[in-house]
Amino acid sequence: MRCPYCGSTNTQVKDSRPSEDHTTIRRRRVCADCGGRYTTFERVQLRELTVLKRSGRRVPFDRDKLMRSVQIALRKRPVEPERIERMVSSIVRRLENMGESEVKSEAVGRLVMEALKALDDVAYVRFASVYKNFREAKDFEALLGELTAADDDEEAPTGKAAASAED
Ligand SMILES: [Zn+2]
Repeated sequence: MRCPYCGSTNTQVKDSRPSEDHTTIRRRRVCADCGGRYTTFERVQLRELTVLKRSGRRVPFDRDKLMRSVQIALRKRPVEPERIERMVSSIVRRLENMGESEVKSEAVGRLVMEALKALDDVAYVRFASVYKNFREAKDFEALLGELTAADDDEEAPTGKAAASAED
């Protein structure tokens, strides 16, 4: 695994250990040429996936990219990292199990929205506002109505959600 600091391939694994739920293995590595230390993760991949974008462009599916957009939606929300990790793994597993090596970006977005909706209302609204590319206030209201209808027993952070989504 090439050193991210100097580009050398002369690197060594110092330590390997599974994550708590045993779905990943974390390896601490050190570069023999520059002494740089970094971590890599190993996880199961059932299938190589390609994402078909709305523009018609095809790009390799990238779990890290998916994780980043989920983390942006969840920024400063009280959700434990392990739950986010599990959520992303579940999305990837579902995409892999769709039986196609090519998935539409819309399908990825739908799965992320479903998952965020279950995890955190505010993050859901943030993600949906970007994903659905909402332009009009009434779209937001329709979405928020959908949310409050879905779980009216929770203290609905409706006003706050709308405000954060416009950050
Ligand atoms: Zn190095």
